[in-house]
Amino acid sequence: MRVLITGGAGFIGSHLADAYLQRGDDVSVIDDLSTGTIENIRHLKANPRFSYTIDSVHNQPVTAELVDQSDVVVHLAAAVGVKLIVESPVRTIETNVRGTEVVLALANKKKKKVLIASTSEVYGLSADVPFREDGNLVMGATTKGRWSYACSKAIDEFLALAYWREKKLPTTIVRLFNTVGPRQTGRYGMVIPTFVRQALAGRPITVYGDGKQTRCFGYVGDVVWALIKLMDHPDSVGQVFNIGSTEEISIVALAEKVKELTDSKSEIVFMPYDEAYEEGFEDMPRRVPDISKINQLVGFKPEMKLDGILQSVINFHSGQPSSFED
Ligand code: UDP
Repeated sequence: MRVLITGGAGFIGSHLADAYLQRGDDVSVIDDLSTGTIENIRHLKANPRFSYTIDSVHNQPVTAELVDQSDVVVHLAAAVGVKLIVESPVRTIETNVRGTEVVLALANKKKKKVLIASTSEVYGLSADVPFREDGNLVMGATTKGRWSYACSKAIDEFLALAYWREKKLPTTIVRLFNTVGPRQTGRYGMVIPTFVRQALAGRPITVYGDGKQTRCFGYVGDVVWALIKLMDHPDSVGQVFNIGSTEEISIVALAEKVKELTDSKSEIVFMPYDEAYEEGFEDMPRRVPDISKINQLVGFKPEMKLDGILQSVINFHSGQPSSFED
């Protein structure tokens, strides 16, 4: 099979490319390197079944050619990371909405199966934990920039489902919960690489808010397994799936765990959200997926526990020069 991965030089995309190649498939990647990096795919360059194009999916002639040459498309190219979203809302909205429009329109010409990556952010302020795919999405006010990410991804979901219902383009949507592992950078606000870098450097570990907010961190290897299974399964079409771990931890407990695992002398400090992001910033107090739907269809069960995930991230960053992403 020939797989096109948009955003394939990113954190999840590059792991997905590894997994498809390992299975014997051909992989082509398009990435504009806005948040991805060539480092993530450097080891694949010599593989004759791998090719990459440095460009934006908004470049229609280029993307059209790549879609035509592929059997299936995994659309991961997007603006991600809460810091990036708060700092560059125009880029977030335009990248996420336009990019998906282009990919779906092109895939539709030859009816190539497309997987659209959405996010757990779409559940917004919903208190209906654990989140089920058919539950309500509760958006915050449009004056709070953070929610533009959730809304742009919700539009992507509507569009992908509309293509399936109206034009019979086979589309599958995944809502990725906090996904972590080697190659993820803390540059755009992701908490685990940030804490690990801080702990390794002996700098203060910055917990935002009171640290009581919780998250479930899924290992990128488990997530990539789920993506491939969903792409392979004919019944995933026209559906939305949560992908993530159900092991819940508060951010302050996470900070303590990182400090302990790195044997760090770093101090744990608390920083108000207003200072960390922007005035009036709203966080999600709890975020836990219900993963029964994907479990029933493809047998998904997260294998890697948080300690193992953290160790893999610590190992990765221990090998990086200290100036990297600080
Ligand atoms: N966070 C934190 N310190 C940091 C970065 C993030 O306390 O240096 C918090 C953030 O406010 C959120 C959680 O960690 O409550 C997860 O943040 P991340 O950006 O990784 O993902 P999110 O779940 O917000 O999409």
